Amino acid sequence: MNNPDIFTQIISLTKRLMVVESTAANPKGLQEVLAIVKDELKGEFPIEEFVSKGIPSILIRNTTESTRNFKIILNAHLDVVPGKEGDFTPKEKDGKLYGRGAYDMKAAAAVMVYLFKDLAKTVSYPIALQLVTDEEVGGFHGVSHQIDEGVRGEFVISGECGSNLRIIHKAKGIVWLKLHARGVTAHSAYLWRGSNALVKLHKALAILHELFPHPESAQWVTTMNLAKIETSNTTFNHVPDDARAFLDIRFTEGTKETMVEKIKNALPDDIDIEVLLGSAPHTVSPDNTQIMALTKAIEQVTQKKAQLGGSHAQSDLRHFTSVGCPGVEFGIAGEHQHGDEEWVNIKSLEDYYTILKTYLLTA
Ligand SMILES: [Zn+2]
Repeated sequence: MNNPDIFTQIISLTKRLMVVESTAANPKGLQEVLAIVKDELKGEFPIEEFVSKGIPSILIRNTTESTRNFKIILNAHLDVVPGKEGDFTPKEKDGKLYGRGAYDMKAAAAVMVYLFKDLAKTVSYPIALQLVTDEEVGGFHGVSHQIDEGVRGEFVISGECGSNLRIIHKAKGIVWLKLHARGVTAHSAYLWRGSNALVKLHKALAILHELFPHPESAQWVTTMNLAKIETSNTTFNHVPDDARAFLDIRFTEGTKETMVEKIKNALPDDIDIEVLLGSAPHTVSPDNTQIMALTKAIEQVTQKKAQLGGSHAQSDLRHFTSVGCPGVEFGIAGEHQHGDEEWVNIKSLEDYYTILKTYLLTA
């Protein structure tokens, strides 16, 4: 039986976290959100603090002995993307809580804080609550840093948004590429004397657009965003001899290397490819015992069939899966993360709490 007051307290904590502008540009805000949570849990559990390049994160555990190995890690980020004036004033309307961070992901974090308070002393296995402040800028000094320091989980649940109470057990991979085309400069009235780098680049992009067609709806396919094209040419009457394109590719299978190879093979030899960033897609099998236990808890609480899904974007989970710690995204219901009118469904917080509680008691 849940204490009905607990949901009032969860909403109150969510709002206290939301008024803090915890963006990457405001390091004080990052400290402040963590201080609010530390204050909630102080004296009850050991809290380990981490800092990397000035970015703070914490790890709260239920064990008295110092360990960095847990059966389950509950993970949430308390940083947000920037917002407009007014976005940092939470508003409740028609069962929804509006404001920056409501959905992504301070409400889910607040649920996890109260869940930890409620349950971490009851369960017999080591469990940790991991709170970081740099997910929106890559997670390299939060989750990734804690992993470098030896933090591991047999199973990780990230309360990331986008899941809407579905179990997100796979995520697409990502590659950022820069294509370079080179040509020969000439006066534009005498085209035959030169070779236009922008035209070469344009042809290469047409090949790639055919390889990765633009989907009109959410589909589990590889996609390519042409983010930027540039050349050093600044005038009309000049044949450009250099051009570059910036591509963001989200892919469903293989590795970074196989993806780059596929693109290389599709393009003419005189287009150079520079790889700026990349990581492979990840999948945890639906047969994983923790996924099965979570599925059972969802069905027991909602009386509906649990749904599994994939994420088109990557989250901090990728840092865990890259060291062999399986995990899923499982979060609350809402919409418009990173946009105007971000909101979270307040009722879903109750379901979320009850599902996770049921799950943790059987995990
Ligand atoms: Zn998020």
